Amino acid sequence: MTAINYIGSYTEPLSADIFIVEGEKNVYMYDTGNGEKSLNDVKNVLCAYGDKMVNVILSHFHPDHMGNIDKINKEKIYASANTIKYMNEKDKELSEIVSDRLEITDGKLNLDIIYLPSSHAKGCIAMNINREICLLGDATYSTMKAGQIVYNRSLLSEEIATLDKIDTKKFVLSHQKGLFKSKESVINELKEIYKSSNKNDAYISFGK
Ligand SMILES: [Zn+2]
Repeated sequence: MTAINYIGSYTEPLSADIFIVEGEKNVYMYDTGNGEKSLNDVKNVLCAYGDKMVNVILSHFHPDHMGNIDKINKEKIYASANTIKYMNEKDKELSEIVSDRLEITDGKLNLDIIYLPSSHAKGCIAMNINREICLLGDATYSTMKAGQIVYNRSLLSEEIATLDKIDTKKFVLSHQKGLFKSKESVINELKEIYKSSNKNDAYISFGK
């Protein structure tokens, strides 16, 4: 099992979970969190890796996931084109666009960076760690409109197909207490939502 350093989420200010894994050459961080508390956590954890350079993978553009990006010393950023739009010029220059799939092998560590169609945000990115655990960020969540949970029907169908192809047993969703979920249970939940929809509707919406 790959060792993963985990920094939990905060609500004040809203800050998403952060995951850090170590390769032979570099350290890889999935999301940066937001605000001073999580930044301090990150700095404390990164101390343990000595001189290794940090590469950041951003799940999507929401501030709770990438708010601290400009405050972290890093060598490279992997993100979708949409997420890169929200960065300052310096960080844009360090960024590599993920538009489909990108594989990083660093010693025994293998990372599969995967573009995920999502109703939650444009440009979501998953990270599969050694085909053991795949981090999904907020990608499987809906968007909210006027107090309603809303999924884009065709994006949901594409997302289910993409998740199905990911070679892992466990998924990890952000902002959750129970960290690991089986791949099957996450996909089944989304399939249920899709099944409940009407094929003539572009959107699936339901009450909270
Ligand atoms: Zn989000």
